[in-house]
Amino acid sequence: MTELPTSPQINLLKNPMLALMKYFECRLPGLCVVFFTLTLSLISNQALAQLDSTKYALVGGLLIDGSGSEPVRNSIVLINSNRIEAVGTIGRLAVPEDYQLVSTEGMTVMPGLWDPHVHLLYNGHPDFAHWFSTYSNQFASVTIPASAHQFLMAGVTSVRDLAANTRDIAKVRQRIEQGELPGPTIYAAGAALMPVDAPQTMPHIIPIDNDRKAINETKRLIADGMDFIKILGAAPQSQNIVNAIVRTAHAAGVRVTAHGRSDEEIRVALIAGVDEIQHIGIENPTYPEDILDLVEQRIASGIPLYWNPTVGTILNSDELAADPEWLDDPKNFLDLPANIERDIRQAIARANFNVQPRSAQETIKRKLQSLSERGVIMVFGSDEGTFGHPASEATWRELETWVFELGMSPLIAIKWATSDAAEYMGVGAEVGTITPGKLADIITVTGSPLRHFSTLREPEMVFKNGIRVR
Ligand SMILES: [Zn+2]
Repeated sequence: MTELPTSPQINLLKNPMLALMKYFECRLPGLCVVFFTLTLSLISNQALAQLDSTKYALVGGLLIDGSGSEPVRNSIVLINSNRIEAVGTIGRLAVPEDYQLVSTEGMTVMPGLWDPHVHLLYNGHPDFAHWFSTYSNQFASVTIPASAHQFLMAGVTSVRDLAANTRDIAKVRQRIEQGELPGPTIYAAGAALMPVDAPQTMPHIIPIDNDRKAINETKRLIADGMDFIKILGAAPQSQNIVNAIVRTAHAAGVRVTAHGRSDEEIRVALIAGVDEIQHIGIENPTYPEDILDLVEQRIASGIPLYWNPTVGTILNSDELAADPEWLDDPKNFLDLPANIERDIRQAIARANFNVQPRSAQETIKRKLQSLSERGVIMVFGSDEGTFGHPASEATWRELETWVFELGMSPLIAIKWATSDAAEYMGVGAEVGTITPGKLADIITVTGSPLRHFSTLREPEMVFKNGIRVR
């Protein structure tokens, strides 16, 4: 946790003369109201003594509330304890005197980002087999907490982890909830269920070779508090197993997401009735007709179908292969011991990035369009943790790819990665927009991401549940 830095407004509180001078210089009536309120509070020493460390007034910035509404200039957001208490503008919303004033002038105030597709146990190392054989016993103590901390510093205040050892992710989630570790709110699938005959030894995967085991392992994940069930590697010969997993999860009211890079995986997942499919495979330029028929039948049935495309890992491959300087950014290695940092750096330096041809972009656009036209709902997610996608970079980079390569408007991209994600996870009434009553997961960034999207890369401030952590 970082100390609360002294902001210009707080300096004003400590320097009444400066505040008074500011007041008399003030030309804008709206600003005058704020400085007048400030000045009044400065006159009384009692008011200074009454400043409440759990109450903040974020004053002056451009507000993007996450709902997709047009931004609002000169905003005020009042945080009381862990909730957003009021939202308004300078001159219209009074700032009570016991609130800590935090200037957001020159910044955009927006909800904390969501990343609904992450792998906290990886930290961008290219060699999964090596990662598992070397660091499995440090996932709960080192790698998952490091990714969680990096996410929070990157302004990502909620994530959904798709494939980690169930016990490890549950333990880290609990420690974050108890305030022992800095990190986002974690929704998790636990270990992925892999319907195969051959036993696997990866700790984040449970091999399933019969229907009985499918039912038991699904029930066990749900009993362990997992929020989603993830299926990996579905194949035609395992259709019954996939059906059993989906039936068991749905009977318990838990949704199922399935890996879908290949047409084969997608076909089996759709027949079984999964809720969501991950990735856009690029081996084939279009989805075959029978898959599109299955999608149409599903939409016609009235049960929504979600897709989590994760295009950044494909479309950023050329930049990663060019060895970009940002891979060396120290924030990508926050909380990792020197030996693990060295290992990741060296492995990335000698890695062979699978550079995709530019036709991959056309394939992705075509496939996204064919799904969207049929009514499929897209879910945001970055596939963080995989090769070259550390937690401190992955989320904004994925979002930036949608804006710059796939033409999404920045305002819609922000809505997608905030309120839409919260709605999808079933907590839209609690979090995801800057609305009175909701949890105060708020970030500020310099300038406006509507004009300079890359400003999302490095937030100025991060509030998690009303506590300033950056
Ligand atoms: Zn993934």
